[in-house]
Amino acid sequence: MRHTSLGACRRLAGVALILCLSHFPSPAQKNLGGAVQTRLALERLAVLGSVLVIGAHPDDENTALLAYLARGRRVRAAYLSLTRGDGGQNLIGSEQGELLGLIRTQELLAARRIDGAEQFFSRAIDFGFSKSADETFAKWGHDTILADVVWVIRRFRPDVIVLQSSGTSADGHGHHQASGILGKEAFAAAADRARFPEQLRWVAPWQPKRLLSRGGFGGQAVAGGIRLDTGEFDPLLGFSYSEIAGMSRSMHRSQGMGASERRGPSVSSPAVIAGEPATSDIFDGIDTTWNRLPGGAEVATILAEAAGNFLPEQPEKTIPLLLKARPLVAAIKEPWAILKLQELDESIALCAGLYLDASTDRHMVTPGESLQVNFEIVNRSRFPMVLQGVRLEGLSGAPAAESKPASLAYNQPERRSLRITIPPEQPYSQPYWLIKPSSGFTYAVEDQALVGMPETPPVLRARIIIQAGSQEIEFIRPVVRRYVDRVAGETTRPLVVVPPVAVSISEPVLIFPDSKAKRVGVLLRSNLAGASGELRLEAPDGWRVQPGSLPFQIPSTGAETTLSFTVAPPAAAARSQLRAIAKVNGREISAGMLVIEYPDNAPQTVFPPSTAALVRAEVKTMATRVGYVMGAGDEVPGTLRQLGCDVTLLSPDDLAQGDLSRFDAIVTGVRAYNVRPDLVANQHRLMDYMQQGGTLLVQYLTADGRSAALDGIGPYPIQLGRARVSVEEAPVAVLNPAHPLLNAPNQISQADFRDWVQERGLNFPSQWDPRYESLFESHDPNEPPQRGVTLYTRYGKGAYVFTSLSMFRQLPAGVPGAFRLFANFLSAAKSAQ
Ligand SMILES: [Zn+2]
Repeated sequence: MRHTSLGACRRLAGVALILCLSHFPSPAQKNLGGAVQTRLALERLAVLGSVLVIGAHPDDENTALLAYLARGRRVRAAYLSLTRGDGGQNLIGSEQGELLGLIRTQELLAARRIDGAEQFFSRAIDFGFSKSADETFAKWGHDTILADVVWVIRRFRPDVIVLQSSGTSADGHGHHQASGILGKEAFAAAADRARFPEQLRWVAPWQPKRLLSRGGFGGQAVAGGIRLDTGEFDPLLGFSYSEIAGMSRSMHRSQGMGASERRGPSVSSPAVIAGEPATSDIFDGIDTTWNRLPGGAEVATILAEAAGNFLPEQPEKTIPLLLKARPLVAAIKEPWAILKLQELDESIALCAGLYLDASTDRHMVTPGESLQVNFEIVNRSRFPMVLQGVRLEGLSGAPAAESKPASLAYNQPERRSLRITIPPEQPYSQPYWLIKPSSGFTYAVEDQALVGMPETPPVLRARIIIQAGSQEIEFIRPVVRRYVDRVAGETTRPLVVVPPVAVSISEPVLIFPDSKAKRVGVLLRSNLAGASGELRLEAPDGWRVQPGSLPFQIPSTGAETTLSFTVAPPAAAARSQLRAIAKVNGREISAGMLVIEYPDNAPQTVFPPSTAALVRAEVKTMATRVGYVMGAGDEVPGTLRQLGCDVTLLSPDDLAQGDLSRFDAIVTGVRAYNVRPDLVANQHRLMDYMQQGGTLLVQYLTADGRSAALDGIGPYPIQLGRARVSVEEAPVAVLNPAHPLLNAPNQISQADFRDWVQERGLNFPSQWDPRYESLFESHDPNEPPQRGVTLYTRYGKGAYVFTSLSMFRQLPAGVPGAFRLFANFLSAAKSAQ
């Protein structure tokens, strides 16, 4: 599989794989573009220009510029986002880290389907907010990510590069600064044979003509900028590019980037910062026609005639001209021609209304199983065509093929089917950058051909060979499951190879607050009828697991069973890892399975390791009954249950009229006040609850444009700020060591601030009523002290705690000190009595 992709990559002169993939239609996309789409494709055939935009994160890209270039100028445009946005906050669900990165990858691809650009990523992991480029490079490895930027430039071969950031401290976020610095370095390094010579096995050095900067982050004007009106209206599309940009930007749903679709003039003014100067256009002095290729002039003439004489009612009349150009294009062995040949073939398919489909009746298959692939090919034109054969590729082992020529008569479906067996050793369809554990803050990718790609190529691809005139054309399509959903209508899903059983430990973190043993459940979900085998748990020395192994048999596909083991902790504090391993048909499986589905995104299947963090730490709590108001989504409730708390998720009804007095503490989840109007509306009931002796613990929220609703988050005024402490090791000073919250039921010491992840906290209050007591002070290096980290006050017989500490990250990561602090916060009303 790996070697196949590299092989194909080399055959097609280095740029190929990325190009092929951009032609795979999106599963969910319905396109009524018809003749307009065909005409645009014909016009695009004549344009040989390219632009690469480089930024740090999903949402840093100038979507208006991308739409203007890709849709308006018909050039090849792409966005290289160094990261997948793994470290941000998720506004639409509870996924964090690499799962959030997976969602954002799909959001970017959805945005690109609208603005018409392509998408690339580097291996850099978004580790959260960073205040300097130095910190960013220390974590990513400067040369590792520079290599990736160079690699993408050498593969994509842009005429022009546009940087989203200036590479100076004016950019703010350290990732932004780093993207500007790396963009500048890569502009020169990509052309230098001495830099990253190992890449030259697959790609040639490449010197883009010029480097532009869009200005400081936030788009402030740059002196000498080139004026581009991205507000122009496109009559063929029926929208202006800035309207398209709004639609594209609104795909960044997990970051709440819903954007307006602006009408009227809208100017982008990127400025040249390196390479050849330009005065009127970013392509000044760059030939973006076929004349840039040897033998291209003749192609240009034919393609101009094809586009000029295009008849929307009779698109097939254009096919003879395209077939005339085809051998001339094929004879030019240059990357541009290889790319354009594929576009030309797809234009022929558009002109013929050619329907090319390879599908199965299921989207999950396990190694060793056999699978039937059904082909349907329909020529919706009267242009004579012949189906020569079909072939499957992508899996290891003998590829299936069939050749039985058949004429494709007008609108008469021609069907074929092939049966293949999935090789027993076939890897599961894990996204390529998650196959190996990341090394620090960089994803580990073994296969160089995959570096830069937005997602893993489809596991199984169909090649459909069509004879048109004297030429044989091979079309590539992904094999997908095609089905009719009663709600969504006809739809498709990517085909994925999955383990016979998915194995997951019931909780990601197992915390042992005392020396008692715990029952630990392991969930097995079968992807195969009659799966059977043995399950065992592996724990390091000092931890005891009973029994050694358990047999299982699951009768039907999709059925689940839970097996339980007893795990006893060591006496002293300890942190390690528990692993579950199922053995089925001699193959060991230590992976769970998770399907992430959001509207407009192709469903993503991932296989997280079947592990759980084991944490032995003394944690006492005086609050056992906890009500939790889930906000934007977090994993805190599950971790509180590990402490022995009985956690109830509070519904709008519970908040409006339920009996709150039964809870020792009520906790609001991440951004609950931002997303739960019922919480804001029932704040008075929470005040009563505190009056009567309850503890209210409010976690991190944002002040984004909602300050009116946030006026009442505490008994006294609190003003939220934007300050954060992004260095997870930053010292935390305890302001009043004798304070009950730091002494009961757990005695808090500096040790409790060790081993935190990603950050200390964010959006600290900037001002607060003097009736609150501030418990801690912390700050990033060279920044002013922050005293709004955690605020506390008594209220009636109860207590109120507001904390901006990022407990939603620390608790699921199993940080012992965070558990002890959180338990003290929950116990506030009781401990201070
Ligand atoms: Zn950013």
